[in-house]
Amino acid sequence: MAYDNNRGGDGGFQRKMFQGNWKCSKCGAAITELPFDPDPSRLDQLQCRDCHRQRRASFQGGRDRY
Ligand SMILES: [Zn+2]
Repeated sequence: MAYDNNRGGDGGFQRKMFQGNWKCSKCGAAITELPFDPDPSRLDQLQCRDCHRQRRASFQGGRDRY
């Protein structure tokens, strides 16, 4: 009857998210969190999750690693 210490099955580790107040350079959507710490000099190149995904789908193996 051990008490379950596991906090549910969400992958075993928490992914760190960076909170902020940015804007997508492509569609203008607000970006409130990112899975990485954005480079201040590239804030005007940020893209929301949707745009980023589309970009990766169309430019496979691009030189820009975001
Ligand atoms: Zn966007």
